[in-house]
Order: sequence, then C-alpha cells, then structure tokens
Amino acid sequence: MATDHIQRLAGLHAEMAAWRHDLHAHPETAFREHRTSERVAELLAAFGMDVHRGLAGTGVVGTLRRGGGGKAIALRADLDGLPVQETTGLPYQSRVPNAMHACGHDGHMAMLLGAARDLAERGRFDGTVHFVFQPAEENEGGGRVMVEEGLFDRFPAEAVFGLHNWPGLDAGRFAVRPGPVMAALDLFEVKLHGRGAHGAMPHLAIDPVVAAAEMIGAFQTIVSRNVSPVEAAVVSVTQVQGGDTWNVIPEEVRLRGGARHFRPDVGRVVEEGVRRIAAGVASAFGATVEIDYRPRYPATVNEPVATAIAARVAEDVVGRERMLPDLPPSMASEDFAFMLQARPGCYVWLGNGPADGGRALHSPRYDFNDAVLPVGAAYWVRLVETILSG
Ligand SMILES: [Zn+2]
Ligand SMILES: [Zn+2]
Repeated sequence: MATDHIQRLAGLHAEMAAWRHDLHAHPETAFREHRTSERVAELLAAFGMDVHRGLAGTGVVGTLRRGGGGKAIALRADLDGLPVQETTGLPYQSRVPNAMHACGHDGHMAMLLGAARDLAERGRFDGTVHFVFQPAEENEGGGRVMVEEGLFDRFPAEAVFGLHNWPGLDAGRFAVRPGPVMAALDLFEVKLHGRGAHGAMPHLAIDPVVAAAEMIGAFQTIVSRNVSPVEAAVVSVTQVQGGDTWNVIPEEVRLRGGARHFRPDVGRVVEEGVRRIAAGVASAFGATVEIDYRPRYPATVNEPVATAIAARVAEDVVGRERMLPDLPPSMASEDFAFMLQARPGCYVWLGNGPADGGRALHSPRYDFNDAVLPVGAAYWVRLVETILSG
C-alpha cells in the first residue's frame, strides 16, 4: 500500500508512533485531557503554528496559513480516552488506573499531528488549515461544546473533516460513503408509579412490574409498526429497576433505554411512540408515569460534495482496490455529527485490521494499529493539498 503519498509520510512514522505511545500511556477521560492537550499544543507550537487553547476547556486548535488564498478547512481529531482498565500488557500500556485509549483517539491525534508537521514543513497549498483537537468525544459531546463556544466563528472554515479507525476493516483500507454514516442517539427514562402491596394481595396493588413488562413488549412495536420498514431505527430498554424482595409488589419501576435512527422524521416517530406507549400503557393499568426523553447526538451525515472529494483523496492515497464505498452505516453515534451540522464535510473510516480476539473498539485489549499511521496522515496531507490547491 506504499503509494507516493504514504511514502512521503513514512519519514514521520517512528515519530508518530512515539507520540502515540506516550499519549497512550497517559490517557485522560472526557474534559480532563489536561496533559494530552498540553502535549498536543506544545507540538503544534513547535511546528510553528498559531495555537489556541481553552475552547470547550481542554480543546486545542492549531492554525496554519500559506499564500494569499482565502479558503479554509478544519480537520478534527479527538483527545479523550475511556474509563476502561487496560489489559493489553503492552510496554506503553496505560499507567492510569481505569483510563485507556480504547477507541484509538491516541492514533487519531498522532496522525493529525504527523500531517500538521509535514504540512508546516513542506505543504504545497494556498489557504488556511485549522487542526482541531476536541475533548470528550465519548458520551459527553465535546464536539457540540466546541461548536456552541464558537469554533467556526473563531476559526472560519468552509468544510470540516473527521476520521475514525475501524476494527473489522482491513488495515489501511478506507470506507467512505455519502449520507448518514452513524446514527442519532436519544436516551429515555420512564418512571412508573403504581401502588405497592403484599405479594399475596395483588388486588390491593397497582402493579408497576406488570405494567413495565407490557410496556417493554409494546416498545418493540415502534420499530416494527410505526417506522417505515425501509428505514433503520433501534429502541432498546437496557435497564429495569424496581422492587426489593420476593413477596412485595413495589410502588415504582424505572425503565431506561436508548433509541437510534438516521433521520429527524424517523426520530420524531420514535419519540412520539415512546411517549404514547408509556403514557397509554400506564393509564391502561391505572398507574401514573413520568417520561424523560432526551435527544443526545444527531446523526453523522456526510455532505455529498465533500464526500466525493474525500473519497477521491483516499483513493489517491491507498489505490482503488483498497477503497470500500459501501460499508454499511453504523447504528453507533459520534459527536463529530455536531460539526457536520454546522459545516459541510465528511467522516471516513480507516481500517485498523481484525476486530476479533478483543481488538474491537472499547475493548480492554484493543490497540490502535501503528501500521496505519502514515496512511491516515497521508490522507490528511493529500486532502489539504487537494482542497487548498490554489
Ligand atoms: Zn469510542
Ligand atoms: Zn472513538
């Protein structure tokens, strides 16, 4: 897979691996990425960039300008690790208890830093590149916070690009597709209040356990009977809590779960379904209900023009035979979605190699594949030199 573009970045391979191993050994979780952000800012400054800190707390933006061109793009990597206890036994295994780069954000940072260094030293482009390092990709929506704090007002960009490693896709292959690539995520909690009673005297109770059982079954009809069969959606109840012992009918049962979908109109059908069924089933059983339904992440939607450019660039870097144009979208979620709501752009997947044997994302045995560091960095460099070709 060593095209000229990858060859160009091969000189930085050892350095990128060293940055990654250092970041990997010192992971920090959402919004606490102080050392990580310090390290990234130091390197960007050493490459001669204007470095801006403090957006969304630990976020860092490095800006590189060349020529008189007014075009600007933003490239994004993520800073955070996960609250996972690492079990890889690697020499650079996490030194922090219960924190680990189990999603490969260490590799994302190393690739974007490698590209930043290459472009600062010998980039042939005309315009502005903003290298965006965001906090808290996992669960806490650091990407949303950066956009809300004025990321694209302070660092105007016509388009924004993201990349994620993908176990299960051959190392160094790219998967790029237009439209939705990752799902929107909504979280909900339903509190069912009934009337407790002795387990032997159910006629004196309003049993929230029986109502909850009916409700969990009825929620399954939202996808099968309310959402169009050609659309994708998931409704999962993932927590059921209520009761303390064998012979007491409890007063309250609490259900929690999540819903996922790709389109706002499908999202509305799902939310209406959860609310209607929760209220309807509770009332049918004589119970009362409190429903807390919260949209958390929008879908990650690739804009077609930016995606066509990203696909061409990826193909230049790895060759047509290593491109996968039709990898199915994932029902997982990604907070790069907030940046793609604010600016057109594209989020691509870069193969990390096999996912079996604990090598899947978020596994305590996962590790980013160092072999793909020059591939991802070459993609960034080529993307900048293509879009800002002057
Ligand atoms: Zn993750
Ligand atoms: Zn991730």
